Amino acid sequence: MTSSNTPSSPLNAIADQALGFADAPAQAAVVAAPEAVAAEAAAPTGPSFASLGLSADVVSALTAAGYQNPTPVQQRAIPAGIAGRDLMVSSPTGSGKTAAFMLPAIERFSQLQKAQASQPREPRPADGARTRRPQPVARPTMLVLTPTRELAMQVTTAAATYGKHLKRLRTVSILGGVAYGQQLMLLAKNPEILVATPGRLIDHLERGRIDLSQLQILVLDEADRMLDMGFIEDIETIVAATPASRQTMLFSATLDGKISSLTGRLLKDPERIEIVQRLEQRTNIAQTVHYVDDRDHKDRLLDHLLRDEGLDQAIVFTATKMDADQLAGRLADAGFESAALHGDLPQGARNRTIKALRERRVRVLVATDVAARGIDIPGITHVFNYDLPKFAEDYVHRIGRTGRAGRSGIAAVSYTHLKKRRHNGVKKGIRARWKG
Ligand code: AMP
Repeated sequence: MTSSNTPSSPLNAIADQALGFADAPAQAAVVAAPEAVAAEAAAPTGPSFASLGLSADVVSALTAAGYQNPTPVQQRAIPAGIAGRDLMVSSPTGSGKTAAFMLPAIERFSQLQKAQASQPREPRPADGARTRRPQPVARPTMLVLTPTRELAMQVTTAAATYGKHLKRLRTVSILGGVAYGQQLMLLAKNPEILVATPGRLIDHLERGRIDLSQLQILVLDEADRMLDMGFIEDIETIVAATPASRQTMLFSATLDGKISSLTGRLLKDPERIEIVQRLEQRTNIAQTVHYVDDRDHKDRLLDHLLRDEGLDQAIVFTATKMDADQLAGRLADAGFESAALHGDLPQGARNRTIKALRERRVRVLVATDVAARGIDIPGITHVFNYDLPKFAEDYVHRIGRTGRAGRSGIAAVSYTHLKKRRHNGVKKGIRARWKG
């Protein structure tokens, strides 16, 4: 389906294409900045992981995970991160940003452990389990803050994958919605790395169960989203509990606007890395737009699209939690292996749904934006925007759930003519974001 909106400038074209307004299949795009570096695909002719400064044990874990070459963001972030530099990075979804902050950190842990191995052993004073304190206190070396629980769990898994050959590297996620007792047991192991959503971390800080005075590395992942979600005060409180000598790495979709006051305060002489996608590099995600008359029409269209032969797994985005539940129920009645994912579900249920999706027992996930952020499942071939996103960034994140790690994907938007004004608003937002 084609748009009636004719792109008049490169920025219009980008916004139109990102929203599927150009002839489908269309390209998603970002304008090339002066020092634009191609994202997404790991360059086979570029530097190797070893040449970026990673030790043999880390490289062997990456090889086992199927990573052959570093992606552009990794090429720039890894050497600077190993050198201890603060980083401010904007990099598109799916570009390998988790490894871009995790790998330099793990390399630093690896070097530290090798240095410690050659020294006489000293008991770790902070290890609550060994010193048998009544209330053990965790003193992590690294903290990763993420806006959502799903993203936190993904970062935790990545840390375990990349650090699997290190002698001791425990990573624990501290998330809302998980029983305190279970988290206290994990904290008692005094993990080196904590991956946390801000709210629950603050709870533990206030209860004296986590002490950040020995923190060496702080990562703010999807910092722009944390600000959007109103976590600014929590972030300030957490940062105030860390030593000024820490290394800070901040990742965000954009580095300007509201994020710049945060970067100004938190980062010391940071290396600024901006990875920009060129127009031709998002051809792996075909985007289509479908006009519908009403909700019934939209439902019938969705049923039809979900029967696409090329569909392996799909995410359908709805605007509200209630719609996600209702639509998942309706699709299940229609014979689809579907499930809902949203913030009102208990964490256990959310984990089980993600696991079922990963194991392909769920083929159609009906989700709200926040819940689906960070989901990285290769089988997702289709993303359906059942309802329009509120913000332009959400659209980019939604379509980024498909076409992961160089695969191809299809993203469809369906909307009624009544929603056209809103659609134009989202387009405007995308233009503004990319102008900014
Ligand atoms: P991220 O942008 O961190 O969400 O990563 C997107 C996907 O790319 C994940 O499935 C990673 O496991 C994968 N990935 C990250 N870096 C590489 C690499 N250098 N080579 C191959 N796959 C990668």
